[in-house]
Amino acid sequence: MKNYNIAVVPGDGIGNEIVPEGYRVLEAVAKKHNFGITSKTFDWGAGYYLKNNQFLPDDGLETLKEFDAVYFGSVGLPAVDDTLPAKDYTFKVRTSFNQYVNYRPVRTYPGVIRPLRTEKHIDFVIVRENTEGEFVQMGGQYLPDEANGMGLDTSVFTRKGIERVAHYAFKLARKRRNKVTHITKSNTLINSLAYWDRIIKEVAKEYPDVQHEQMYIDNSTAMFVLKPEIFDVVLTTNLFGDILSDLGGAVMGSLGLGGSGNINPEKEFPSMFEPIHGSAPDIAGKNIANPYGQIWSAAIMLEHLGEKEAADNIMEAIDKSTASGVLTVDLGGDAKTSDVADAVIKNL
Ligand code: NAD
Repeated sequence: MKNYNIAVVPGDGIGNEIVPEGYRVLEAVAKKHNFGITSKTFDWGAGYYLKNNQFLPDDGLETLKEFDAVYFGSVGLPAVDDTLPAKDYTFKVRTSFNQYVNYRPVRTYPGVIRPLRTEKHIDFVIVRENTEGEFVQMGGQYLPDEANGMGLDTSVFTRKGIERVAHYAFKLARKRRNKVTHITKSNTLINSLAYWDRIIKEVAKEYPDVQHEQMYIDNSTAMFVLKPEIFDVVLTTNLFGDILSDLGGAVMGSLGLGGSGNINPEKEFPSMFEPIHGSAPDIAGKNIANPYGQIWSAAIMLEHLGEKEAADNIMEAIDKSTASGVLTVDLGGDAKTSDVADAVIKNL
């Protein structure tokens, strides 16, 4: 029997509530589809930082390397400097493990009321470049306390970085509805994002069967709301993808509905799967957090590991659960976090 060894990192805030529920679904689906799941849980994150002055131990990355995948919640606490969680955990794992694709799907959930005028079915994937761009954290602050102080962040876009994520997006489109919309702002960022456009167009020529269009970020935010059904694969940069995926969550009906994968397509390193949202300290500890996105992330992880049938089974069970009215507070219902996992497991 096949077995997958998963590193479980709940992180902070609601991560500690939704990750165990997602893991319960994972165990149940594994049993049904005859594969094994073993795991080790790590208490890393901002809470760990408060005790140890670091987000994960010195050998943390080496430890993670031994696993088939990382099932992650999110990191960040009000008591900890919020410039640290991404730098010291999330980006550290993404860049060290070459997880250059951030795969963030958006779709209609049956039975969930969306804040949109259109009733058309929505089903697209945001492919966000995940290791460079605006989030390389190169820069500095000059005389920050003075009247002439300044802060500087530099964006880095490399040919290699753009090409590899573009190939991923075009190949993904071939498995879907054959369309890539790439989103930049090259009319004003005339060096970095014009370079991005140029390379995407070069790559697009290798996929003549895939329809390709370019859109600016400002227009695309409007289109996400007004005509989300036009998108299939949305290819964009690290910062724009970060923003658009929260908008994608809102378009679905809640941030709590979005799942994602930080993917190393070559499988040289473990990939990491997490919901699109943060640690939501405002609702932590109440058993009201919406775990659908965390559960969806488990399905994305299983598909990445080669267990497509089990992944599809989770998605069908999610659909049955929302369609039958198992909705958390953010969706207008009264289901608790654990009720959702119970319903999904029952519907597998
Ligand atoms: P957030 O996503 O945690 O919360 C934004 C809003 O959405 C809040 O009102 C919250 O209650 C709600 N929300 C989020 N997830 C929900 C869920 N599953 N169910 C119901 N409601 C949900 O964003 P934030 O408030 O900007 O950030 C909080 C902390 O999370 C910060 O420390 C931030 O740095 C961190 N963060 C971490 C990650 C990550 O680890 N990948 C990502 C984003 C933010």
